[in-house]
Amino acid sequence: MEQPKTLQDAIRHYSDEQVCIDTVARLRWPNGPECPACGHKEHYYLATQKRWKCKECYKQFTVKLGTIFEESPIKLDKWLTALWMLVNCKNGVSSYEVAKAVGITQKSAWFVLHRLRFALQTGSIVKLGGGSAPVEDDETFVGGKARNMHKSRRLRMKVREHNWSKTVVMGMLERGGHVKTAVIPERRKVIVDKIVRENILPGAEVHTDEFVGYSGLSDEFTHKVINHLEHYVDGKVHTQGIENFWSLLKRGLSGTYIAVEPFHLFRYVDEQAFRYNHRKDEDGNKLNDGQRFELALSQIAGKRLTFAEVTGKVGETAF
Ligand SMILES: [Zn+2]
Repeated sequence: MEQPKTLQDAIRHYSDEQVCIDTVARLRWPNGPECPACGHKEHYYLATQKRWKCKECYKQFTVKLGTIFEESPIKLDKWLTALWMLVNCKNGVSSYEVAKAVGITQKSAWFVLHRLRFALQTGSIVKLGGGSAPVEDDETFVGGKARNMHKSRRLRMKVREHNWSKTVVMGMLERGGHVKTAVIPERRKVIVDKIVRENILPGAEVHTDEFVGYSGLSDEFTHKVINHLEHYVDGKVHTQGIENFWSLLKRGLSGTYIAVEPFHLFRYVDEQAFRYNHRKDEDGNKLNDGQRFELALSQIAGKRLTFAEVTGKVGETAF
């Protein structure tokens, strides 16, 4: 069967459980199924149970075992449709829309989306600035919806308005290439400077505004500054690429997501970065929805996330 092209095609295509299993198996194990317990590559396939049995340790495994889909009562067809929507809806997708399209409760949809977002986090160790294009650095403030929120909800969330309204996101964009982002606790030089050095190769040309946080970069980088106050535009020195990314991000956040808790913000930022970074392939050809979906699925097969991690109770520090 041909690869689906639209959301409707995808829903139809992945309504067949065997198609879902084959798709996840192909992307999870490009060289054939491997036993999650011992790594052995020889196995029996128990067709009626849709499981493999390892010839070495005799343990049985499904395609979901050891992935974010494991132990979920939600079937693969629903997971895959939700993933399709998540990576292909330009302004993001809400739990309400997914619940409706997939036929699950909004609470389940919220959980599914959060697991998928977590799994899509790039965590790429490849630094920007390897080519000849400059890297644009900028920060933006996200949030500020607390004023519209009922006081009891604010109290329940135990989020001080100060923090809520001042969540800072840093972005670094290699012109014509990928974007990397970081949600940071404060817009301070010591933080901003460190993140730039962690994410950009020494020697790269870096374009920023006149924010003092960037003032120490010229020891390792060719640092060019745009003075926005003087409306100074020097041909190629600008940060318009990263500013366009901020507008995409904010359109998604204000249109699709009514209120995002600061603790969860980085996942939404990562989600937008994933769509942005995978609009084209390595050769600059536009990716279609089916290709972007397969790429996402190949990245997430094998990642796990517990409910406690999703809700922020362990593992990470909330704001
Ligand atoms: Zn085994």
